Amino acid sequence: MKTYVKALVVGGGAVGTSIAYHLAKAGWDDVMLLERDELTSGSTWHAAGLLPLFNMSFATTHIHQYSVEFYKTLEAETGLNAGFAVVGNLRMAQTQARMDEYMLYASTAETCGVPYEFLTPDQIKERWPLIRTEDLKGALYHNTDGYINPADVTMAMAKGARQRGVMIERKWQADAFHWTGEAWEVTATKMVEKGGNLVPSDEQVVITAEHVVTASGNHAQRTAKMLGIKMPAIPVEHQFIVMEQDPALVEFRKDHPEHPVIRDADAQSYVREERGGWILGVYEKNAPARFEYGVPDSFRADLFQLDLERIEEQYMAMIHRIPSCEDSGLKDDFNGPICYTPDGNPLVGPAPGMQNMWLAEGFSFGITAAGGTGYYLAQMMVEGEAEIDMASLDPKRYGDWMTTEFATRKNEECYDHVYILHHPDEERPACRPLRTAPAYDRQKALGAQFGFVNGWERPNYYAPEGFNDHDSRSFRRGGWWQYAVEEAKAIREGVGLVDATAFTKHVVKGPGATAFLDWFTCNKLPAVGRINLTYALTDHGTTRTEYTIVRLGQDEYYLVSAGAWTAYDADFLRKAAAEKAGDFGYIEIQDVTTQWGVFAIAGPKSRDVLNEIVKDADPASALSNKRFPWLTMRNIELGMCPVRAIRVAYTGELGWELHHPIEMQNYLWDQLMSAGEKHGLKLVGARAQNWLRQEKSYRAFGTELGRDATPLEADLPRFVDLNKDFNGKAAMQAKGIRSKCVTLLIDGPEDADPWGREALYHGDTRVGRLTSGGYSVAFEKSIGMGYVSPEVATPGTRLKVRMLDQLWDAEIVEDSPYDPKNEVIRKDG
Ligand SMILES: Cc1cc2nc3c(=O)[nH]c(=O)nc-3n(C[C@H](O)[C@H](O)[C@H](O)COP(=O)(O)OP(=O)(O)OC[C@H]3O[C@@H](n4cnc5c(N)ncnc54)[C@H](O)[C@@H]3O)c2cc1C
Repeated sequence: MKTYVKALVVGGGAVGTSIAYHLAKAGWDDVMLLERDELTSGSTWHAAGLLPLFNMSFATTHIHQYSVEFYKTLEAETGLNAGFAVVGNLRMAQTQARMDEYMLYASTAETCGVPYEFLTPDQIKERWPLIRTEDLKGALYHNTDGYINPADVTMAMAKGARQRGVMIERKWQADAFHWTGEAWEVTATKMVEKGGNLVPSDEQVVITAEHVVTASGNHAQRTAKMLGIKMPAIPVEHQFIVMEQDPALVEFRKDHPEHPVIRDADAQSYVREERGGWILGVYEKNAPARFEYGVPDSFRADLFQLDLERIEEQYMAMIHRIPSCEDSGLKDDFNGPICYTPDGNPLVGPAPGMQNMWLAEGFSFGITAAGGTGYYLAQMMVEGEAEIDMASLDPKRYGDWMTTEFATRKNEECYDHVYILHHPDEERPACRPLRTAPAYDRQKALGAQFGFVNGWERPNYYAPEGFNDHDSRSFRRGGWWQYAVEEAKAIREGVGLVDATAFTKHVVKGPGATAFLDWFTCNKLPAVGRINLTYALTDHGTTRTEYTIVRLGQDEYYLVSAGAWTAYDADFLRKAAAEKAGDFGYIEIQDVTTQWGVFAIAGPKSRDVLNEIVKDADPASALSNKRFPWLTMRNIELGMCPVRAIRVAYTGELGWELHHPIEMQNYLWDQLMSAGEKHGLKLVGARAQNWLRQEKSYRAFGTELGRDATPLEADLPRFVDLNKDFNGKAAMQAKGIRSKCVTLLIDGPEDADPWGREALYHGDTRVGRLTSGGYSVAFEKSIGMGYVSPEVATPGTRLKVRMLDQLWDAEIVEDSPYDPKNEVIRKDG
């Protein structure tokens, strides 16, 4: 057995095998895979093998799409047939809301080039007469989907990997990881059979690996413990049953092709054919999480006992949908662990706080995702970045606040929610409230309807007593829409107060801080007391993080970035600083996110409100342009609260961000509320704020800004100082402008706005996609931001947006269609 390799992959399920294959294919010729038991002996062997191509997330759809294309090539490469049946996928809708959901799916599918077709109930009946259609509204049909044999496809990838030089070592368990400063030393133990169990022997080796990837499936908690990190990857029970032959199906198949995979989302189930019978898989209520603290030795390629009672409702619904199956007996059943994460996306990417340690854990659609995960993760490892933005899968999207209990409850919820209506304005209830800023109770009492951001409770909007957020959700304008309109207007016309406490905040200081940040970010560093918007780039020149940098002193900076990404930003910043400390000198980094609360006050009357409570020798001028110009920071006192006030407003109105000691938040809140009363201060949530920032063309991290576009493609040259050297500069310039960020005003449907997932057309040609969407109170129509081909990215170009399965007129407008000269932001007083 080799003891020095370039990359060691831990886990021989579909995911690990694909990663090993793709690392070899990408040119690494010294790759080893360790499997503690046999290949596929984890969840892979008992998967149903469905390959649902399309997924609501842009990145995941690309991953699935790659898999489907890749699996088709495996037989030619390896001679092994993975049993890929391209039968199609029929997503049926029992309600109009479900059809609305599919129309949004379809628009996103289109942006990824996934073909689809809408079918009426009659068209379904005509093609597949065994399906009962009277109570259906229609269906979304993807003809390129299908299913595959999970074990066969894994074996085919393993053969392909071996052919490319990968060493696959079975019955070796990775038991300890030690970073020497240059490589990982992985202690592996030979596993032996003992009384039907798989147990460690005394035989051990230490394998030195430059890179390690863990793909340990249901063993993720053990892996996390060994690495000393947290991973919210905990399995939940998942069941499917195989039924005896259905004579009507056998008869039908004599002169018809196989049925597509039939998804009856409103009945929480999927069905496919299996040798003249049906397989019914369900996402039922109350499926319990398993192995929160590790997989017992006694559990190998095992299953749990079938719980028929738990799936009775879905079983009856299947008999309703395909009545001919009523007399088919039960042939086989599977109840296996299926790994989940709180948001259903796997954890793929660099492990927090470690070098050359990569995670590929928490897969609930691991057969579908394996191919693409291997491909894109290998790109990240070999080339430094993947060609798509993998942030939505990054393991650091959950911070240190995450616990086993949180992951367990959330993963159960995620499983339970697989087939609910996935409204874009959905908020999930489990484990809440958990992270609350002090003003939470006050906000709640005033009608705040909260959203969940990185564990924090953040007001989305405020509604009158008795309002039910859950029932107000829609794929069109939800019941909350009118409240967000009033809030947006309040900021444009009067004054509004937004809670932005969830912002990520770091202090960077020390002798090396200035040189480091100058290299780390692409804009000029601000002078002391001033602020700048800037971007840290990846080595490939794309946007890794957006920062508002406040220079507190010569070598002390306060960095504010998106609230959803605290651990993601912290890890990147720390790793970059550690790497550069030798060049630039000592750099201290503190994550002060939970020490500072933030309120954003904005609107033409915001200065009047602050003037009421600011303590100053000359309060009347304390907030004037002369003493407090736009894009500066001042330490002020509001009543008895010391405030780091920053003159910026994400809403594009006259305003200040009031960063304050978190323990004084309620005091400051009360001061602002009572000072604001006579000026008509209105509480404003994140939804209105999101609309307002689009009127100013302010790009948001996670939508317009990410690792798939450079700041120049985001059309932000004014924040890029090409006169200096910075990380990723040459790569950014080499990329050119592949597509460009634009703002659009849209004449959409009367009752709907875009959500930021819709396809954009120029004539008959698809030229891009929206990344944000909403309603503009300034222009009284829908608004959106997105990326289009550079040739059409000029103001005045008329495009079409696909919404609710129709094309609607849209026009590219000049950046910042509202207040393009920034006059209101700079208003004096
Ligand atoms: C009933 C059921 C139906 C499903 N249907 C589908 C479906 O239709 N489509 C779909 O896409 N997905 C489906 N899934 C999910 C799918 O099975 C998983 O997502 C997928 O198998 C995960 O693959 P993996 O490689 O991540 O994990 P696993 O297959 O669990 O592999 C992990 C491997 O790592 C090994 N390992 C762990 N720790 C160590 C260590 N320290 N050292 C060495 N080896 C180690 C384990 O022995 C195991 O073999 C289903 C799951 C269930 C339960």
